[in-house]
Amino acid sequence: MADRVATITTGAAVSHVGRVRSQNQDSGYAGSALFVVADGMGGHAGGDIASAIAVRRIAETDGLDFATPQEAEFALQSAMLSANQEISAAVEDRPELTGMGTTVSALVRVGDVIATAHIGDSRIYLLRDGELSQITNDHTFVQRLVETGRITPEEAAVHPRRSVLMRVLGDIDQSPEIDTSVLGTVPGDRWMLCSDGLTSYVPHERILIAMSGPGTPVDAANALVLEALEHGAPDNVTAIVVDIDRPGSGPSAAQIVGSAASGLDPELAASSRQHNRLPALLLHPIRTSAPEASFQPESEDYLDALIKEDRKRLWKRRGIWLAAVALLVGAIVGAALLGYRYTQTRYYVGFDGGNVAIYQGVQSTIGPIRLSHVVEVTDVTRSELSPFTRSQIAETISTPSRAEADAVVANARTDGSG
Ligand code: CA
Repeated sequence: MADRVATITTGAAVSHVGRVRSQNQDSGYAGSALFVVADGMGGHAGGDIASAIAVRRIAETDGLDFATPQEAEFALQSAMLSANQEISAAVEDRPELTGMGTTVSALVRVGDVIATAHIGDSRIYLLRDGELSQITNDHTFVQRLVETGRITPEEAAVHPRRSVLMRVLGDIDQSPEIDTSVLGTVPGDRWMLCSDGLTSYVPHERILIAMSGPGTPVDAANALVLEALEHGAPDNVTAIVVDIDRPGSGPSAAQIVGSAASGLDPELAASSRQHNRLPALLLHPIRTSAPEASFQPESEDYLDALIKEDRKRLWKRRGIWLAAVALLVGAIVGAALLGYRYTQTRYYVGFDGGNVAIYQGVQSTIGPIRLSHVVEVTDVTRSELSPFTRSQIAETISTPSRAEADAVVANARTDGSG
């Protein structure tokens, strides 16, 4: 199939240690028809070794002639399983590497189709006609929670356990489940493979913009890594961009990036790590850090625990929110009560119908609530007052105490009788 169509596949890989980490545990490969990204994990040791083992092992299949896309799919899968064994063997030789593992996302072009193989939370995207689609599914517990409607993708993006992987290549499972697919591709398609150091920190729209530039795959891969750096790059970041039959381009030279490029053997890597860490930390003393990737075998128990933990967190958040609202309402009610109590220490003299009356409170209203009420209707009538006193009382005379209000009435009374 591949030799029936003249195809040009142009790709480029860029990998960066990021702004926080001292060591790059990502590995990448951009070949003639094969492209691979791997993101190693293993805490203090081994992530770089695991991703390098995987990328080098899978890169060996580049240039093989596949009669069908299914054959390519199978070859990728076999190479990944063989990398899995190689990682286990490395751990047997060096027990201090126990627990190392790696994600892998790989694609190979066979004529007008792309075969993919994938495990972990690195991703493959396709940009076609201005639209960017995610091809792979993250093998994380958080993604499982999204799929079952427990949390939203937005909540997943900031979830404290977003880096807990359900499936990886490593020393735990002898036959890890690998996702594979076969998809059509057309001239003008731009494929992209990346580690979560890009997708966990750069929003989808920014990835789309960085990928949509008119430049070559190298330009696009650089633009993506630059975006990650601009978003703080707390994690290692790797981007591989692949153009399908880009006009005017020729096949690109094979390229290895990240830890797979450093020619490291386990012995060397372990010793160089000691020296690398300190200067990098000194260079970037205060930076936000990314959650360290870890692995938990796929289990309903762990998922249940995660759901319970989420529920608890939600209740806690709700509790804090309710307490804040209660405090605010309390403060408003308290202030209103204090204000009301103050108004009730005041008095004023005015008319109630035809008679002079003493009111407690102030002469205003808040909505339907009057802030005063009559405490005494006197026998002094409006008609017996002099025009001056009448008009003053009509406008009301306010006093700071009841005694002074009584005095005002007494004055009005003499005014009336005089
Ligand atoms: Ca990562």
